[in-house]
Amino acid sequence: MQNKKNQFIRLLLDWWEKNKRDFPWRHTKDPYSILIAEMLLRKTTAKQVEKIYSQFLSLYPDPNSLANADINDLKELLKPLGMEHKRAELLKRFGLYIKEKYDGEIPLELEKLLELPGVGMYAANAVLSFTSSKNVPLLDTNFIRVIYRVFGIKSQKSRARDDRKIWEFAETLIPHGNSKNFNLAILDFAALVCRAKKPKCSECPIRNICLYYKMGDKKYK
Ligand code: SF4
Repeated sequence: MQNKKNQFIRLLLDWWEKNKRDFPWRHTKDPYSILIAEMLLRKTTAKQVEKIYSQFLSLYPDPNSLANADINDLKELLKPLGMEHKRAELLKRFGLYIKEKYDGEIPLELEKLLELPGVGMYAANAVLSFTSSKNVPLLDTNFIRVIYRVFGIKSQKSRARDDRKIWEFAETLIPHGNSKNFNLAILDFAALVCRAKKPKCSECPIRNICLYYKMGDKKYK
């Protein structure tokens, strides 16, 4: 299994070097900017977020400015993403919490990140991976799908994202000290090649070690 994992990592990263997507939030190491991107990206597309991300950060460059934001201005700005009332209230609460509890500084410990309003394991790990290359996975339904198809590992829980076994398996795939590139590579690979519907198996660089490809999709319903 370790040999297959190593092959998977190498093939994935080689593919990603030539196929990576570029978004403004991938260029920052600022934990606030990373968390804002993760919160905006929920239930909408990267394209939509790209339209307002820079403007958002120039109007609200830190937690304190977000805490002091006029809620109606915030809703107006968030309109293109949809659910602007919910999003605006959550973001304001997030800003206020950091202003009051941490004097406007984002804490960089997992437990403290997880206490921030609107921040779950995925967003907390994004901060840890992108700011200091901590060896943590960004496990979402896309990563879970890739693990299932390539390695045949499936969660028995109704919400696979809450399954510790899947988290632990995902952790074993992270190449030491290179978690940012690996996590971004998985994101791009799942979006461009190993898509939920109609995966592009015939042009996939990983197909020779993929169980789904070997066994045919009927086994994977
Ligand atoms: S061969 Fe198909 S199912 Fe397997 S990883 Fe590639 S795209 Fe996904």
